[in-house]
Amino acid sequence: MPVKILDKVQFRLDLKEFFQATRIRPDSQDGDRVRALAKEAEGIARPKAVFREVLIVDRGQSFVTLDSIKINSQILRVNSQGLDRVFAYVASCGMELFNWAQGHFDMLDRYLADSIMERALNSALKGLEDYLRDNFNADRLSYINPGSLEDWPIEGQADLFGLLGDVEGAIGVRLTESYLMLPFKSSSGILFSAEKDYSSCMLCDRPTCPNRRAAYDSKLYETKYRDS
Ligand code: SF4
Repeated sequence: MPVKILDKVQFRLDLKEFFQATRIRPDSQDGDRVRALAKEAEGIARPKAVFREVLIVDRGQSFVTLDSIKINSQILRVNSQGLDRVFAYVASCGMELFNWAQGHFDMLDRYLADSIMERALNSALKGLEDYLRDNFNADRLSYINPGSLEDWPIEGQADLFGLLGDVEGAIGVRLTESYLMLPFKSSSGILFSAEKDYSSCMLCDRPTCPNRRAAYDSKLYETKYRDS
C-alpha cells in the first residue's frame, strides 16, 4: 500500500485546558504571555503525519512480519491476533513549530513553547486517527511504540522507518543515530484496531510519568502476553 501524508491538520490551542494543565492563571501576566505565544504558534504550526497500511504476512511465537519487515514484539503479535493489517505511522508537531520554539530563550517561554508543541503533536495524532476511521474503517485504535517497553526496544525505530520510506522528505522528521526523532515532539509506532483498549502504559511500572494514559496493571503481562 502507498504511503499517505497528512499535512493539512488544523491546530488550535485549547486555552482552557492549557491554563489548567500549566496552572497558570488566565488573568495574570503569564496568562497574557500564554495567549501571545498561542496566537503566534497557531499561525505557524503545521502538525503532520505519514502512515501506511501494512499487511501482516507472517506470525511467529514472538514476532510479526509486516510486508517484508520482521518486528520482534510479543505484545504486537498477541495484540494483532485476528487482524490482517495494521498502520505504521510517524506523526509530529512539525518543523515549523520546532524552529519557532528554538527562537525562545526565556525559561517560561521555553516551557510554554514545549507544552504547545506537545499539543500540536496531539493534534497530528488526532488527525491521523480521524483519517483512519473515516477512510479505512479503522475503529478502536490502539498504539504500540518502539522504545516504550523492553518488548520492542528503541532500535525498532529503524524497522518502523523502513516501512515508511523517506519520512524526512515526507514530513520533516529525522531519525538520529541513537534512534531519537527530530523534532522531539514526534511519535512513531503501529496503530491497530483492538478488541479491547490497549496502551503501553498498562505494562509500564514507571512510578511518575506526566504522560501516563492508563493505569499500570501488574498482572497483565503474565496473564496475556508471556509465552501466549
Ligand atoms: S507510563 Fe509514561 S513512560 Fe510508561 S509507557 Fe506510558 S507514557 Fe511511556
